[in-house]
Amino acid sequence: MSRTDPPPGQYQRLTKRAGIPGEQRAERVFRGIAVSPGVAIGPVFGTSEPDPVITRHKIQAADIASEGARLEAAIAQSRKQLTKLRGRLSVLPEESQSEIAPLIEAYLRMLGPSRLVRGVRRRIEETLLSAESAVMVESEAIADAILDQADPGLTAEDLASLRRRADEILEIGRRLVRNLTRAPFRSFAGLPEGAILVSEALRPADAALLDPARLAGVATDEGGAEGHTAVMLRALGVPAVLGAAGLAHAIRPGDTVVLDGSSGAVVLNPGPLTLLSARRAVTAFARERQKYARLRRLPAETQDGEPVELQANLELPIELPLVAQSGAVGIGLLRTEFLFMNRETVPDEASQAESYRAIVEAMNGDPVTIRVLDWGGEKEIEALSAAGIVPEISDTNPALGMRGIRLLLRRIELFETQLAAILRAAVAGPVRVLLPMVTNVAEVRAAREVYERVGRRLRRRGERLPEKLPPMGIMIETPGAALSADALALEADFFAIGTNDLTAYTLAVDRGESDVAALYDPIHPAVLRLVQFATEAALRMRMPVSVCGEMAADPRLTPLLLGLGLRSFSMNAAAVPRVKQAVRAVGIDDCARFARRVMDQSDPEKIAELVSGFGRPRMP
Ligand code: PEP
Ligand code: MG
Repeated sequence: MSRTDPPPGQYQRLTKRAGIPGEQRAERVFRGIAVSPGVAIGPVFGTSEPDPVITRHKIQAADIASEGARLEAAIAQSRKQLTKLRGRLSVLPEESQSEIAPLIEAYLRMLGPSRLVRGVRRRIEETLLSAESAVMVESEAIADAILDQADPGLTAEDLASLRRRADEILEIGRRLVRNLTRAPFRSFAGLPEGAILVSEALRPADAALLDPARLAGVATDEGGAEGHTAVMLRALGVPAVLGAAGLAHAIRPGDTVVLDGSSGAVVLNPGPLTLLSARRAVTAFARERQKYARLRRLPAETQDGEPVELQANLELPIELPLVAQSGAVGIGLLRTEFLFMNRETVPDEASQAESYRAIVEAMNGDPVTIRVLDWGGEKEIEALSAAGIVPEISDTNPALGMRGIRLLLRRIELFETQLAAILRAAVAGPVRVLLPMVTNVAEVRAAREVYERVGRRLRRRGERLPEKLPPMGIMIETPGAALSADALALEADFFAIGTNDLTAYTLAVDRGESDVAALYDPIHPAVLRLVQFATEAALRMRMPVSVCGEMAADPRLTPLLLGLGLRSFSMNAAAVPRVKQAVRAVGIDDCARFARRVMDQSDPEKIAELVSGFGRPRMP
């Protein structure tokens, strides 16, 4: 298990200290963030990139033109590197291609006439900064401005998306600085087969250079679960732990590493017992993978043959490959907020239509439920405030203020534009329109009037549309909507039960407030009764009803939800195989009996006990 030396002239280091031959080093455990499942055992391969050294910060006024020319040359070189990287993508697995390709496009856009490039030029001209200093200062300022939007009310996903965006800006800044200072880039040319790559940090563009067939795993000191690098590594199927602080500095040539991409543990120089259990875990993981791969092709149906629809929730188009892998049949909730975030203007009809159409086409005939913009509450969107479409959220209680469908009905142009874009995409495949945060019948009627008007207008304009307007359904995510479900069922074409907000509003518990997190209980009897009431109202009308909140992703709750009569669930793509397994393990009659027992309870603790005991033999 020895490391191949790097080719001469290439910057690579394992560690500056050499290992002493024959020296037995003690086992050390590092803890990081588990980002890509799987257990790997292998020789360590360390690689890092020295920080570029910036020696010149200020310039003379007479140097502005030449400094501008250096910047242009660095931009051109960066574009060339990224274009070359894009050309290399075809050798990667399809899922990784669709992860990294949009990212490279985003980098290339930033190197065009972007806010970043404009800001850098301004700093060179107005504050006489050298090109590299101007790039550093400007990219950090933009990243800080993005991260400043991260208030504690944001969802974890929204926070992750802000962090990703800030990382993208910093990353393109680093590339420009590296090219300006002629600092070398990392290379993986000497990576031996079966090695575990250890580094202080790994960029998404670096991850694109990895060959998953040769690499056993990846561990880094920095990085998090939501970044592009993490998504890339998951798409490549490489077991990985990021954020294992101190690891890169501790390794020496010849060390062995055991890495558990499910628990986040990295063991340096494992002892015989650790190695033995790691080898067992490698075998068990391989079996599990095979099982899930087989599951993907098996139907989602209960033991007695009742078909169940399992769909995916989509936050960002980059998750599409995961949806394809998961075995989900369609998208049950496309959150469209991503189109409006991190930008200075509101996207127009054509660009929205293009985004929706790309997703509908990618789903290849499987249905896509597109939820119109759910702005407000914890989801503040910069573009809407910047364009003056809505004021900064100023309500004393934004969760109860101007949000979701209320906002869209108040800002009709915004609503009409989005509906028109969705209708234009609906010729590419089956689509449904979903309204967020409905609380009363009048909202649905008003929304339908707008919808039909937009349809007529598009037809007059000669736009190609489906013969019949796609179904328009509503989220059941407020107690008001759940308790009016019988009346709402007369107006809506389908229900999607959003148990995340339904739980929050029913129990008066903020979704992101850690102090009251223990009270956030989706199986509280009050929440379950609302789910039951809404489900029964829909079933009486023979109207489609699904659950698309996080509850749908918890396989322990699958029997209960089936027992309440639900047959359609939408969840994060990764949860689909687990839930499918839960569906295939039960019979509908058992589920119905179980749901009756649960619904007889009014004590939340008793319900939790019943749920965790489902399927276990009952004591006499
Ligand atoms: C919900 O509230 O359950 C839901 C699915 O919507 P979101 O999480 O986007 O608010
Ligand atoms: Mg919601």
